[in-house]
Amino acid sequence: MKNVTKTYQKDDLIVKWQPHKCIHSAICFHGLPMVFDPRRKPWISMDGANKQEIIAQVKRCPSGALSFQADENT
Ligand code: SF4
Repeated sequence: MKNVTKTYQKDDLIVKWQPHKCIHSAICFHGLPMVFDPRRKPWISMDGANKQEIIAQVKRCPSGALSFQADENT
C-alpha cells in the first residue's frame, strides 16, 4: 500500500494523519469526537475543538498515525 499523509490545517496548527500507521484504536474518536469522526468525510474537523485540545488528543495517538506541527505556546 502506498504510504500517504493527509493534512488538516487551522491557522498555524497542522494535523497530519498517516493511514498506514493507524491501528484503529479509536482513542482519538472517543477522546475528541467533535474533531475525530471516522463516519464523516473528511473525518478530521479542525473546527471541532480549540488548538490545545486538538494537540493534546493528537499526542494520545498510540501508533504515531497522528502528528502535528504548531507553535505550542500560542
Ligand atoms: S488514535 Fe491514532 S491509531 Fe487510534 S484511531 Fe486515532 S489515528 Fe488511529
